Amino acid sequence: MDIGKLEQFLKDNNQPKFRMGQIKKAVFQDGASSFSDITTLSNDLREMLEKEMKILSFDVEKVLVAKNKQSMKALLRLEDGNLIETVLLSQRPSSAEASAGKSACISCQVGCQMGCRFCATGKMGFKRNLIAEEITDQILFWKQYLKKNDIPGSFSNIVYMGMGEPFNNWEEVSASIRNLIDPDLFGFGSRSISVSTAGIAEGIERMAQEFPQVNLAISLHFATDEKRGEFMPINKKDNLESLRMALRKYFESTKRKVFLEYVMLEGTNDSPNDAFNLAKYIKSIGKLQLLHVNLIRYNTTSDPPAGGLIPSSRIRTERFRSELERYGIPVTIRKSLGEEIQGACGQLAGE
Ligand code: SAH
Ligand code: SF4
Repeated sequence: MDIGKLEQFLKDNNQPKFRMGQIKKAVFQDGASSFSDITTLSNDLREMLEKEMKILSFDVEKVLVAKNKQSMKALLRLEDGNLIETVLLSQRPSSAEASAGKSACISCQVGCQMGCRFCATGKMGFKRNLIAEEITDQILFWKQYLKKNDIPGSFSNIVYMGMGEPFNNWEEVSASIRNLIDPDLFGFGSRSISVSTAGIAEGIERMAQEFPQVNLAISLHFATDEKRGEFMPINKKDNLESLRMALRKYFESTKRKVFLEYVMLEGTNDSPNDAFNLAKYIKSIGKLQLLHVNLIRYNTTSDPPAGGLIPSSRIRTERFRSELERYGIPVTIRKSLGEEIQGACGQLAGE
């Protein structure tokens, strides 16, 4: 919702100041889907708002729900016709633990400039940046969706792991984070927000300064410049050495844990030798207790698999994990939740 526009609208219509607070609470905290649902407002005002203003800046094209209801994905059509995706993950099966925390995975760009070879968003190229409102409206959308469908639970995590590279759109992404942590709007804690980057060193520094409490995740995926450069063009500008420096600085100023994302690609980056190289790299950064490796299951982005990239088998993934553990590296195999709904962002919008 465009807060500036709403403020102006209320002013132009000589509405008292407290109206703004009522609307903010109804929309951002209670998940109201339409102005006519905001019963604290007068009928006249509700009607006017309904006619002149919109809560969401996009239309909902479709929502996919996995059989176990643990993951859902929405395809959203922006005003200019472009499509973006957002994913909602529940930590536990909805029946067992009704109030299980939800993670919303949000997009910050239509497409992406970075062109990582394993990524569906990377393959579709870059169309445009999202504005802050379009970014945070993805959360409003899920709030409304949960409410409409009587799904209990609140948000425990907001992750910038959808389409796009946050540090290539930092102005709008940082504005969106400010809205997320604004107690008068969403009111999330900084520590419940995570930003994932393909590894733009300058962006890492800016984030440390502006949001030292927001979590940082780095899409590492490969532990030698040779391999990383082959799959991630960014590595030519910010190679592993440059990332190492950026991380050291980050730890100095924030003292916060950083997550290294590692997508498991069979025969490409999942051998014992790859584990050795990864452990060596991580140790070279120096702060073992502040680094944590997340092993991610690869979602094949096309059929047949593009470039022969396929997900590592369970056995190879387990072996990779135990190799890392043997070197003393903190590591978790992240449960895959999104496969049947084409969980990797960009897989739907790029179709
Ligand atoms: N651009 C940022 C954030 C969006 S991508 C980044 O790259 O970090 C979010 C995560 O999904 C990244 O770790 C990315 O490498 C990973 N990813 C991309 N394509 C994937 C796929 N097909 N299967 C699994 N993970 C994928
Ligand atoms: Fe962009 Fe991230 Fe996909 Fe790379 S992995 S193309 S940076 S969205």
